[in-house]
Amino acid sequence: MNLYDLLAGRFPADRTKPCFLLSDGSEISYGALEDGAAHVAGRLVAQGVQPGDRVALQAEKSPQSIMVYLGVLKAGAVYLPLNSAYTRAEVDYFLGDAEPKTFITDPPAWVTEAMSGPRLDATVARAEGDLASLIYTSGTTGRSKGAMLSHGNLAANALALHAAWGFTPGDVLLHALPIFHVHGLFVALHCALLSGCPMVWLPKFSDAEVLAGLERSTVMMGVPTFYTRLLANPALTRARADNVRVFISGSAPLLPSTFAEFEERTGQRILERYGMSEAVIITTNPLDGERIAGSVGYPLPGVDLRIGDGTEDTGVIQIRGPSVFSGYWRMPEKTAEEFTSDGFFLTGDVGRRDPDGRVWISGRAKDLIISGGYNVYPKEVELVLDELPGVTESAVVGVPHPDFGEGVVAVVMGQGDEAEMIAAARSQLAAYKAPKRIVFVDELPRNAMGKVQKNLLRERYAELFRG
Ligand code: AMP
Repeated sequence: MNLYDLLAGRFPADRTKPCFLLSDGSEISYGALEDGAAHVAGRLVAQGVQPGDRVALQAEKSPQSIMVYLGVLKAGAVYLPLNSAYTRAEVDYFLGDAEPKTFITDPPAWVTEAMSGPRLDATVARAEGDLASLIYTSGTTGRSKGAMLSHGNLAANALALHAAWGFTPGDVLLHALPIFHVHGLFVALHCALLSGCPMVWLPKFSDAEVLAGLERSTVMMGVPTFYTRLLANPALTRARADNVRVFISGSAPLLPSTFAEFEERTGQRILERYGMSEAVIITTNPLDGERIAGSVGYPLPGVDLRIGDGTEDTGVIQIRGPSVFSGYWRMPEKTAEEFTSDGFFLTGDVGRRDPDGRVWISGRAKDLIISGGYNVYPKEVELVLDELPGVTESAVVGVPHPDFGEGVVAVVMGQGDEAEMIAAARSQLAAYKAPKRIVFVDELPRNAMGKVQKNLLRERYAELFRG
């Protein structure tokens, strides 16, 4: 069971049909993708790459990267994508840890050379549990860990998403996400390949290019910042979004205000889903059924999800299921710490469930603030602040405080009066939850997937209560 065969088995019978629709008006067909993958696999095998060997890639986004990805799978090797923003020193760590046999940094040139060499037509057989990809988590504390995803993990998730989101060969996916992360690489790409449908392929997000691409797309996947940037452009109108049957968001929390504004502007309710490198997608709002702002919906079929050990209302989300990874690369102890004795993975996200099973996330366990001995969930405070006039978005963190251990600090994107805003928050929240200080900023620091980097905020404001 090699994931490559599952995907290629769904390519359109007519291989001249387009897979990539490029910005310059040109296209790359499914046949060309398949040829590229066969030659990449041929070159890898000729270079001595064996099943299970890692092949690393760090490059700007291009269709050739996808030829490399598929060729690596086809050759039975393990694909290791690296964030194109990583520095040399960071890359050295990954290369040292994963020990890839080959490291590709210029996929277009590498594939061109491969095209003049041998093809590998017979896909190398792999078992369900065999490693397909190693994804280093964007971990903000400690060493970045390589999540080991198998052919079975990726196949199960791809099939579940393809069904849940109603993909058909008639779809056109707008793909503006990076492809070094599970969102762009597995979630988006696999849905398109399993449908044999074309992708409007953008090398990176640009509001103008996305708006132009929407007119010929039926599905868009993005991170929340894509949606806020689209909303900032007056050219986003109902007519512009009309051809799109579903807008999907994930990788970071979608603000209820973004959901509401997007609906007001386009008439469309963004479908939010929740996932992580270690399990790809875990929950999703329904395609048919109510999509609720602030909720990440229901577990995908086959996913067992519980809150804490199952007795708490709010606690760490634990999951078990066919897409959950087998562990961290060469870190057996870390892996053992993150799984319960009955096989549930501790996601590190804190959440709760409604009686009907709908899931709500209140943040990362490590972002929990303990102030004066009381637990403060940043999300609860952020939701109150985000509703106040002048606030675009807020991020609440705990920093060292001489009396309370940690003091609650709100970093607010927007403008206002600190004392008035604290008073407004106090009128809605218990005193210990209300921010003791509010700092106003133009932008919150975010990583490539649009996640607010709370670790940077904690560092930046570490001295706020000490001076
Ligand atoms: P990564 O492994 O880099 O994809 O990061 C996964 C983390 O992103 C999860 O553990 C969550 O904390 C966060 N995340 C992903 N999707 C959502 C979502 N829809 N809402 C809130 N947090 C999310």
